Amino acid sequence: RIVHVNGDYLPEEDAKVSIFDRGFLMSDAVYEVTSVLGGKLIDFAGHATRLARSLRELDMAAPCSEDELLAIHRELIARNDLDEGLIYLQVSRGNPGDRDFAFPGPEVKPTLVLFTQAKPGLADNPAAKVGIKVISIDDIRWGRRDIKTVQLLYPSMGKMMAKKAGADDAWLVEDGFVTEGTSNNAYIVKGGRIITRNLGTDILHGITRAAVLRFAREAQMEVEERPFTIEEAKAADEAFFTSASAFVMPVVEVDGAKVGAGTPGPVAARLREIYLDESRKAAI
Ligand code: PMP
Repeated sequence: RIVHVNGDYLPEEDAKVSIFDRGFLMSDAVYEVTSVLGGKLIDFAGHATRLARSLRELDMAAPCSEDELLAIHRELIARNDLDEGLIYLQVSRGNPGDRDFAFPGPEVKPTLVLFTQAKPGLADNPAAKVGIKVISIDDIRWGRRDIKTVQLLYPSMGKMMAKKAGADDAWLVEDGFVTEGTSNNAYIVKGGRIITRNLGTDILHGITRAAVLRFAREAQMEVEERPFTIEEAKAADEAFFTSASAFVMPVVEVDGAKVGAGTPGPVAARLREIYLDESRKAAI
């Protein structure tokens, strides 16, 4: 695999980042994951815009322009002959040469890392045909979940808790309401209405969420952006989640209770189809 580090394209075994890098020592880094279908990027503009926002919110310098980022993504697709999969991008505050809580000055440049992950069959994921199971866990993450930082320890623990409970993923609950999934945005469908938490600092502003809600509204589906509870999810007609890597994924069980018939629902299936069709058309 050929990866990218600070302007260089290298075989992965030759790519190196300092032990003093603030991404490594302090989780002082932000990231994006963009999917690739048919060798093209899905919603690159959305990911680039959110990256710029994450950097701004943390007073972190941009490593390069959006055009340069696009060129790097495309170069990695070409060099790795990537047809279907993901591109991971991370920007950290860089390497000050020592460990210190205070941010370094502008002389320390951000560290930019990108790599590809080949995932043949990403769009044809068999899990979308049977749906997945989630458990609910407490949301004990920090309060700026709208910034896409690499602080992924609790989401990782959440996935392990789900596995241990015989489920696939966890939905996080704060003050009695679902915030989001460990790595995705959460939805229920009741009486034809699509319900998902409104945007704020308590969830990530999913790029897939924005696209799916736009397509839903264009298809005259009703959308309600408000928090919902686990009890509502259990009593819903359908549930699903969205993310750049899973697109629209049906959820058929919540804390051991079947949602609806316990099989993927028609709204999730339709949204998945529209999302994949439209995204492929708009891919660059
Ligand atoms: N919420 C969280 C916590 C996530 O990690 C992700 C995936 N990065 C999402 C939501 C979904 O965002 P997107 O659609 O941009 O992948």
